[in-house]
Amino acid sequence: MEEFACPCCGENKISPELVEKLEEVRVMYYRRPLVVSSGYRCDKHEAEVGGTGANHPKGLAGDLVAPGNRKIIGQNLLDLIMGLVEQGVTRIVLYRDERHIHVDINQNLPQGIFIK
Ligand SMILES: [Zn+2]
Ligand SMILES: [Zn+2]
Repeated sequence: MEEFACPCCGENKISPELVEKLEEVRVMYYRRPLVVSSGYRCDKHEAEVGGTGANHPKGLAGDLVAPGNRKIIGQNLLDLIMGLVEQGVTRIVLYRDERHIHVDINQNLPQGIFIK
């Protein structure tokens, strides 16, 4: 839970449902350490990082990275995606740097796996 706090002010309105699902993914499916690089963001911090305001300030999103900022590719990526889908986390954004993944549980936005 504390991994999801806003880095600028420590405020934390992250969805407990999202935390539970990601914990389940980490323990049951991925079985490797995952680091939350960004979770809840207050409006000020969201503006600073140029976010859309749609997910992180609502506490519905997390950005995941591997320890040491290693790439998440191949079987690791497949295990992670399968775990997320199994847990019903069906909004997943993969980035072309292959180092971080955005996930959220915002049901009001299109569901799927997107590449940015
Ligand atoms: Zn903040
Ligand atoms: Zn994100």
